[in-house]
Amino acid sequence: MEPVISYVGVGSNLGNALHNVTAALSALQHLPQTQLHNHSSLFRSAPIDATGDDFINAVARLDTTLSAESLLSELQKIELSFGRERPFRNAPRTLDLDLLLYGDVKISTDTLVVPHPRMTTRAFVILPLLELNPEILIPDHGLASNYVQGLSNQAIYAIPKN
Ligand code: AMP
Repeated sequence: MEPVISYVGVGSNLGNALHNVTAALSALQHLPQTQLHNHSSLFRSAPIDATGDDFINAVARLDTTLSAESLLSELQKIELSFGRERPFRNAPRTLDLDLLLYGDVKISTDTLVVPHPRMTTRAFVILPLLELNPEILIPDHGLASNYVQGLSNQAIYAIPKN
């Protein structure tokens, strides 16, 4: 099987969020049958549909021969290893990993929806994704870049690399 280019959203707003996101990006390097091709800058964003501190976010490109379902299950193992608890819906989270895109495939099952259904409404997904691929297409939605203007009211900035 040819590797599938997939994109994963990484977010944290609990504990040392910057550390959590950096550590999660290194954990992605160790997924089976998967190469971490590259990742975006880290971004700081105000919480949307969630409570607590600002989030640190990034998007990673993974080239993988895992199925989408297996990739999701690997991502969930990483979330668990970061001690994620869910005391209530949209509670602050140590680590949130979302499968945003899996090639140009569309999936809709009880456990997995791809493209991620809320990705076009979140600046913290669209901006890092465009950093990795300015021309990227979202199945059924068209160019990701078309969504930027509508998200300009969301507070977010890229953290300068040191
Ligand atoms: P969350 O609270 O955002 O981490 O949601 C996790 C739940 O969303 C899990 O039960 C997943 O099965 C489900 N889910 C559906 N589609 C996706 C996706 N594309 N990426 C991550 N989780 C997903």
